[in-house]
Amino acid sequence: MSENKDQKFVYDFTEGNKDLKDLLGGKGANLAEMTNLGLPVPPGFTITTEACKVYLESGDEPAELRDEVSAHLDALEQKMGKKLGQADNPLLVSVRSGAKFSMPGMMDTVLNIGLSDESVAGLAQQAGDERFAWDSYRRLIQMFGKTVLGVDGELFEDALEEAKAAKKVTVDTDLDAADLKKLVKQFKKIVKTEAGRDFPQDPREQMDLAICSVFESWNTDRAKLYRRQERIPGDLGTAVNICSMVFGNLGPDSGTGVAFTRDPASGHQGVYGDYLQNAQGEDVVAGIRNTVPLADLESIDKKSYDQLMQIMETLENHYKDLCDIEFTIERGQLWMLQTRVGKRTAGAAFRIATQLVDQGLIDEAEALQRVNGAQLAQLMFPRFDDRAKTELLGRGIAASPGAAVGKAVFDSYTAVKWSRSGEKVILIRRETNPDDLDGMIAAEGILTSRGGKTSHAAVVARGMGKTCVCGAEELEVDTKRRRMTVNGTVIEEGDLVSVDGSTGKVYKGEVPVVPSPVVEYFEGRMHAGADDADELVQAVHRIMAYADRVRRLRVRANADNAEDALRARRFGAQGIGLCRTEHMFLGERREMVEKLILADTDDEREEALRALLPQQKQDFVELFEAMDGLPVTVRLLDPPLHEFLPDITELSVRVALAEARKDHNENDLRLLQAVHRLHEQNPMLGLRGVRLGLVIPGLFTMQVRAIAEAAAQRIEAKGDPRAEIMIPLVGTVQELEIVREEAEQVIAEVRQQTGIDLKLALGTMIELPRAALTAGQIAEAAEFFSFGTNDLTQTVWGFSRDDVEASFFTAYLEKGIFGVSPFETIDKDGVGSLVRSAVEAGRATRPDLKLGVCGEHGGDPESVHFFHEVGLDYVSCSPFRIPVARLEAGRAAAVRTTGSDSR
Ligand code: PEP
Ligand code: MG
Repeated sequence: MSENKDQKFVYDFTEGNKDLKDLLGGKGANLAEMTNLGLPVPPGFTITTEACKVYLESGDEPAELRDEVSAHLDALEQKMGKKLGQADNPLLVSVRSGAKFSMPGMMDTVLNIGLSDESVAGLAQQAGDERFAWDSYRRLIQMFGKTVLGVDGELFEDALEEAKAAKKVTVDTDLDAADLKKLVKQFKKIVKTEAGRDFPQDPREQMDLAICSVFESWNTDRAKLYRRQERIPGDLGTAVNICSMVFGNLGPDSGTGVAFTRDPASGHQGVYGDYLQNAQGEDVVAGIRNTVPLADLESIDKKSYDQLMQIMETLENHYKDLCDIEFTIERGQLWMLQTRVGKRTAGAAFRIATQLVDQGLIDEAEALQRVNGAQLAQLMFPRFDDRAKTELLGRGIAASPGAAVGKAVFDSYTAVKWSRSGEKVILIRRETNPDDLDGMIAAEGILTSRGGKTSHAAVVARGMGKTCVCGAEELEVDTKRRRMTVNGTVIEEGDLVSVDGSTGKVYKGEVPVVPSPVVEYFEGRMHAGADDADELVQAVHRIMAYADRVRRLRVRANADNAEDALRARRFGAQGIGLCRTEHMFLGERREMVEKLILADTDDEREEALRALLPQQKQDFVELFEAMDGLPVTVRLLDPPLHEFLPDITELSVRVALAEARKDHNENDLRLLQAVHRLHEQNPMLGLRGVRLGLVIPGLFTMQVRAIAEAAAQRIEAKGDPRAEIMIPLVGTVQELEIVREEAEQVIAEVRQQTGIDLKLALGTMIELPRAALTAGQIAEAAEFFSFGTNDLTQTVWGFSRDDVEASFFTAYLEKGIFGVSPFETIDKDGVGSLVRSAVEAGRATRPDLKLGVCGEHGGDPESVHFFHEVGLDYVSCSPFRIPVARLEAGRAAAVRTTGSDSR
């Protein structure tokens, strides 16, 4: 990062706006936006992410930063009429992190900067409350000690617990000014011993150190882990917000809360949130003390409540979306501390998008940007069967939906360890904190006994799409003894529990699951128009209709049998993009293939092929019938033949044992020879695909005949078969030309035999780099291309697709070499650029060349956008991913008009 001379590193809240998230972070940009909307935001300023980047790269703040901060601090002091840390009337500020994308609780924040031995008295006098001033001071030393000076936070916690125990009280509000004064002394001692320095008394030094500490917190292990998980780029840096303090802990007429403009779990409009009287913001988010529902604020402080409702409406209309809000009330005066477009559950995303369309706030194209394929996939998960016999253990807050079953574990370490050995686990904690992140990732679901909808567990689980129930107060969680007790029932580590994140219910044992209503809808068993139709189903139905209306990409299915084809059709498939015929050669038919491989003479081989032909033909008849009127791409046999033969070791043992018994089995001996003959060191790069067709006479022509005869039979039956024949693993046009010539001859023969004018398209997969590089030549012999991005990824990277994900991808992901496996999301720069150039070259040769993709990437949301962009005609994916592909194809088409940032 080179510093630019005119670069400005500090922006007053009055200078920014919501579109400057890259520079000011989400929090800073939105504080500025609210300031400019005239909402009550405590004055302050934001240090840019650019300053953070300079710091992280050089280890030092940019040279101009301190002066710029000084200038903005002066202006703030003037506005507030007091100086930072001023002895008789101190200005106090908070120093908060705030990146472009929300990373809840992952980075540092320090409150009450400006307090010192001197100014604490001034604050006491100014607030007319000595206890409050000393409590604020002890909080500062505690937070500053822990985050800025790296002192173990437990030491402060322990001292606080001791102070309460000595006084025989249980809550910190029962400690008086004298107790807190003593505690401050003790805290300062802890700092001195642990950090080897005094707690800084100079307020500016406090502020500068806190700023650097926030910069550094961008790179803590937990922040890095969170970013990898959420796919947030590692080089964005965080902004730092310096905001004048307002206090929610000045007595019962003060408090702090979190609010949503609608329910983030269901999308319903209403008053949702939590309020905590006489507390500072961190107390709510940490879920330490139990909050009251926001609606109760109406009776506690009607004026502030009414004002808050008004502001929430303003914000929703302004942002045209669900907003979440942090606010503080200081002695009856409402202050807005934060707002952002709030995270929501998958179901709520769909409902809210359609509600906002109905309210006229957004249009259909924008509604498509408010949901995504990953959310739709989540909604297609099964849920608990409500008819099942269950043993209810207790109930908490439904914080993040889903049905999770697993073994109870009480710490993150065990969660990770057990899940690595293949166990499904439920992480049960009193409350979670950022250190639990890897345990939360490993768990199927998360259950806590404390904290509300906005507690750490709830916020993070929602972000991850993990099932979570929080604040289940009946649970007594004993992490030391690794057990929990609920109304007399004891659940030990390893016992099965079921957690329903949609209802908040927790069950003992394993509750059976049933399909989701969204799947029932796609299956056609539930109708969106029915009177009793689920609200979610209606919303999904409408959004899918928008997507289908605007998308350019067609969506086909990878399906090999009539059952899958029919499901795919119900899910909206517009054809089959890949029928892998090898699946038709397994089971009882494996022996026929064996005969083909073992054939010594032409007669033997022809006999084996003759036996296979009617079976293959019947497969295709069924498939063409299921997909009547829609294209069906049948791929000729692809995998190496040894896959149809017995395992070499097993067979060798069998033959050896038989020999020892002098019991010769002629067939086994021939088989073993064939297995040896066909054994390859790198079968994926060996005798497979088109190469098989070229060296095993009659194999491909048998398949072509089966396709042609099946199509003819369907036409005779007044059907409308649209078969396309696809040749796999082609590397050069010559291979394709030979197979094509043979295929055309067979088709001509069938035409003649049946008298039916068959039209069968012939094309190829593009799944080898050479094929992509010579796509212009290959297009001369192909009417269509289908990109086999599985093999293309394998061969472009030199990654064995069957081995690498299990062997070293975890290390690659941890080191950030890539954020996601290239077998999952298309590697745009490498594999993708070959796809792009092959598309161009292919179309240059044959302008009406039909182009599709049938590798796994065809159903991956991010990859679908790429395939839209490079101009493919269709994507093909497994039946269950078809709705996701339809939705993402619609979003890709709509994104150009709205340009919305969907994260
Ligand atoms: C591919 O390689 O992307 C493909 C679809 O073929 P297969 O996965 O069967 O090798
Ligand atoms: Mg392939």
